Amino acid sequence: MAPKSWLYTLFSTLSVALAQTSASTSQTAASSSTSFPPTTAYTLQTDYDVIVVGGGPAGLSALSSLGRMRRRTVMFDSGEYRNAPTREMHDVIGNDGTPPAQFRALARQQISRYNSTRVIDTTIESIMPMNDAATNIPYFSAVDSSNVTYTARKVILGTGLVDVLPDVPGLGEAFGQGIWWCPWCDGYEHRDQPLGILGALPDVVGSVLETHTLYSDIIAFTNGTYTPTNEVALAARYPSWQQQLQAWNVRINNQSITSIERIQNGNDHRDNATDEQYDIFRVHFEDGSTVDRNAFITNYPTAQRSTLPAELRLAMADGKIDTTSQTGMRTNTTGVYAIGDCNNDGSTNVPHAMFSGKRAGVYVHVEMSREELNTAISKRDLQKQTERMVGDEMETLWKRVLDMYR
Ligand SMILES: Cc1cc2nc3c(=O)[nH]c(=O)nc-3n(C[C@H](O)[C@H](O)[C@H](O)COP(=O)(O)OP(=O)(O)OC[C@H]3O[C@@H](n4cnc5c(N)ncnc54)[C@H](O)[C@@H]3O)c2cc1C
Repeated sequence: MAPKSWLYTLFSTLSVALAQTSASTSQTAASSSTSFPPTTAYTLQTDYDVIVVGGGPAGLSALSSLGRMRRRTVMFDSGEYRNAPTREMHDVIGNDGTPPAQFRALARQQISRYNSTRVIDTTIESIMPMNDAATNIPYFSAVDSSNVTYTARKVILGTGLVDVLPDVPGLGEAFGQGIWWCPWCDGYEHRDQPLGILGALPDVVGSVLETHTLYSDIIAFTNGTYTPTNEVALAARYPSWQQQLQAWNVRINNQSITSIERIQNGNDHRDNATDEQYDIFRVHFEDGSTVDRNAFITNYPTAQRSTLPAELRLAMADGKIDTTSQTGMRTNTTGVYAIGDCNNDGSTNVPHAMFSGKRAGVYVHVEMSREELNTAISKRDLQKQTERMVGDEMETLWKRVLDMYR
């Protein structure tokens, strides 16, 4: 009995030793990035897998993609959409003529079927890259306008752009409703009507190249920018610009604009059977004269809507978040992706926003899966290593027991 009880005691001791060895090994692996790669002990629990900032077509697309893979994803939306003023979206196949709010509402409703997704209508004020001291795993901490904090392993920014319009009375109110920047979005509804081009002289030829298949009566309102310097700038891009404008019968009016007055609203004067909208605007000039036009194409700059890209110190190119230096909509900050208008991959429209959101959704999911796979593999290695260590120790103890009974 004695030996048996001795052995029992010994095995109890060994079990404790085994447990202690195992615990200390796990701890070492979790706290040290030198023994194992940082992803090997993936024990960090964040509130969500992914934070998406932006509820336009880009953010919604990323949310959908991640939701369908059961990624715990939260999308924040401050309700400031670039195409908010427009009457309907166009050139978005399957949704041609759909009002943007209707499009977003349907997208939200469909995505809500995926239980791992959540939408919060609030502004994210700040996002901080963090590092979990115990595991050496990076993550992000976002704070909303009510001071609520959310954590996630990845961040996708779909925060969009704003159009920076000049301070011409009447222009801002009409932007998106007869005065627009994108002929693919709104040009067809005003086809064959008298068109105006708004912007500086160097932009005129570009606008004509985009629109001459829709309009034959075009006046470029250059608002005092027809200067020798700008002529040189335009000639550098289009050496025969004057002949080109003559060929398309484009006239230039360089008077200073004081205001743009809406005379008729195409919302109320439209033919839905033929997709035609009949806006009328009156351009007022400094000398008191006026010119009427039915629609305008504009050439004005854009800016980032959100300060988050600057706060996160993301690399920019021409005012857009640089995602062209890396694949999959990645920015220069590990774990942060940029989609839709706010990035610089060369396009600002709804299909691009959806494409880039989808692309980021795929890359983020697969990247997290890789991290999780590494963890699973190294956990298995860790287990084997522990078993080996414990096995060696047991062997030593067993030898000691046998020695005692010799
Ligand atoms: C007048 C007009 C008409 C247009 N018409 C068309 C058209 O017919 N067809 C077409 O293809 N394209 C059209 N466009 C272009 C189109 O609107 C954009 O390309 C598209 O909206 C880009 O989508 P996005 O998701 O990147 O950005 P947005 O749609 O602008 O969405 C940005 C999102 O980010 C959110 N956000 C920003 N900062 C924060 C923050 N800190 N916290 C929380 N949320 C935040 C905003 O609230 C918003 O939800 C039009 C543009 C304009 C200006």
